[in-house]
This record gives sequence, structure tokens and C-alpha cells, in this order.
Amino acid sequence: MNFTTPATNSLMWITDRPPIVFTNGSGSWLTDEQGRCYLDFVQGWAVNCLGHSHPAIRQALVIQAEQLVNPSPAFFNRPALDLAHRLAVHSVFDRIFFANTGAEANEGAIKLARKWGRKHKHGAHEIITFEQGFHGRTLATMSASGKPGWGELFSPQVPGFPKARLNDLDSVRKLVNGKTVAVMLEPVQGEAGVIPARKDFLQALRVLTEQEGLLLIVDEVQTGMGRTGKLFAYEHAEIVPDIMTLGKGIGGGVPLSALLARESVCCFEAGEQGGTYNGNPLMTAVGLAVLDTLLTPGFLDEVFSKGEYLSQRLTKISDRLQLSGERGLGLLRALCLPDDRAQTLVERARARAPEGLLLNAPRSNLLRFMPALTVTIEEIDLMCDWLEDLLR
Ligand code: PMP
Repeated sequence: MNFTTPATNSLMWITDRPPIVFTNGSGSWLTDEQGRCYLDFVQGWAVNCLGHSHPAIRQALVIQAEQLVNPSPAFFNRPALDLAHRLAVHSVFDRIFFANTGAEANEGAIKLARKWGRKHKHGAHEIITFEQGFHGRTLATMSASGKPGWGELFSPQVPGFPKARLNDLDSVRKLVNGKTVAVMLEPVQGEAGVIPARKDFLQALRVLTEQEGLLLIVDEVQTGMGRTGKLFAYEHAEIVPDIMTLGKGIGGGVPLSALLARESVCCFEAGEQGGTYNGNPLMTAVGLAVLDTLLTPGFLDEVFSKGEYLSQRLTKISDRLQLSGERGLGLLRALCLPDDRAQTLVERARARAPEGLLLNAPRSNLLRFMPALTVTIEEIDLMCDWLEDLLR
């Protein structure tokens, strides 16, 4: 649909957008300028883990904005200290560096691994990553990603990211050599179409990396902060990685990300890592409010059980309509279609009346569901009923 106005033309074109301007959000619902409501099962691509405008986030922003927005990352601030401490207590990591986007956290992880390789492994710098993986849109993180076509886009790439196949340990083993410093992966490949790394694969990968003296880096930008029903997805596999990155859910909608590492890996020297906005109190205060909410007793168990419920409902739809099944972990799920109609479904869902439905199609034959972790069973039912109607 044509939606060009002087205002929309003032934005740099990077992609087609639907002719909708959103003005309000609350929980799982969005409202546009025309007053039309939409049930949101995208939530900014798994960003708004507490839904739109959660009271805890609103309150944290208002209170912190009145006190202190940015004293500069050259000084300590209380929310950053408290959030770092709480993340360390609730994970296997000792030290945290805050950043603003998932890609930036991953850049930090890559730099830290390369620095560690220089110090402890005779300059080893290669990081084995995975076909179809996604780590961000900076040059290094695009090079680390295994998205088809990205090898040539903006070439030359940043070198040093050989690609293995997910759930295929031999494909990793074959790439290990004297230049290898780390293996980096998503516990569930999100953009690839919600493809979980198997528990036995993650466990074997941990054993292999330990035997070879390599770092294991988990990119939990999409899977972290409760999305899979545990605070971090590596917990499902009962492994202890060396480095983890967080983004999306950690800020519940505001730009916040984090690089977490075990003490033995922390080797940055003064001036090697930083950034103007990093760890500012306005964002980290929101991060604290989000984490406190996720850690409310029972919250994560409920995420897991709502994930199971969504899974059952999607399975039934798939069985009834002879689709290709569903998969995922917690509230990160996908419905597989036998054909390439995912984008058409996304558009029809958005246009449905009276309320629209926001869905996402990272692949042409697959729909991805990333609702707020606060989504209700009634909202899951509503989404599934509407989806089944659309599929029919
Ligand atoms: N890693 C993963 C696993 C992601 O899913 C994404 C975003 N889809 C990123 C990194 C990049 O995050 P950001 O867009 O915040 O840079």
C-alpha cells in the first residue's frame, strides 16, 4: 500500500512499512492513530518482555528521570551497580558490561574473546559461529552471523568467523585449529526460525570447548531474560558458558544490553572497551525494574507453562489443518507451514477486523510468536482462534 507523506519520506528508507502509526500500548495491545486495536504477538521482536508500558517500567523511568539521567560512564551510578550485582547473583557470570543494543553486546563479546586469545592463546582469534545464526547488524556481528547472502553484503567481511552447523558437533570439531579462540551460538536460533540447539549438543559443545581450551559464548539476546521459561536459556542445558550477551528483554523496550563474563575471561585493559551511553542510570533503572519483575516468585514458571499451552494450541492447529508442526522453547515459538504463505498471513492478520493481529514471519514458511511474558491465557486463545480462522 502506498503510504508516502512528507513525514514518512523524511525517514531514511530501509524497508517497507505498513501504513500504520501507533500511538498507545498497554500489555499485549497496541492502538493506532485511527483508534484501531491490535493484539501484539511480536512485541518489538521479543523486546517488550513485560508488554507495552508496564507500570514497573513507567515508574522506573519517571523516578530515575527526576533524579539522574547520565553522569557519564566515567563514573559509577547506583542503578548500574545494582543491576550488575543482581545479574551476577542470578547467573554463572562474575562481571557485566552494559551496552545499548544486542549487536553492541556481541561486538564486546567478540573483542573480549579476541583479547583473551591474544593474552592466553598465542593470538588465537577465530570464533566458530553457525550457519543461519544471527548476531546483529554491525560489520563484525554480520560476519559472525550465518544469514544467507550476508557473506557478500557490505564485503569485505570481518574475517575469523568459520561456520559450523547447529546440532552437529563434528562440524564444529572440524573447524577447530590453533587459531580458534571460541565458539559462539544462540541457544535457540531465533531469526533462523526458532531452531533450538539440542541439550545433548550444548553439553557436548561445552565438553569439546573445555577440552580444546576454547571459550563458549552464548548469545542470549533473544532467549535471555525469561523468554524460554528460565531466566537464561543455557540453564535448560545445565551448562556453564564463559561469556553471555543479553539484549532485547533486559530493557523491556528501552535500549539496554549487556556483556557478561566469568572472572577468568575478563581481560580488557583501560580504554579498550566503553561507550558514551553505556550503563546510564535511566536505562539500567529500567533493567532493574524488569529483572525484579521477572524474579517475582512463580513468574518464570508461569512463562514456561504458558509456553506449553501455546505449544499445545499451535500443535492442534497444525494437526487440524495439516500444517508442518510447531517448535520452540517457552514463549519463543514457531508454527511451520507447508508452503510460503507466512508473509501473506502476517499482512492478513494485521488487516483483520475489527481488531488487528501482529505476527512475524522470519522465514517465508514459518510464523514466529514472541508475546509479552505477561500475556494471558485468554490472549493466547484469542490469537490462536484468529490465526486458525485466517489459516482456513
Ligand atoms: N543476537 C540475536 C540472537 C538477535 O536475535 C538479535 C536481534 N534480532 C541481535 C543479536 C541483535 O540485536 P540488536 O538488534 O539489538 O542489535
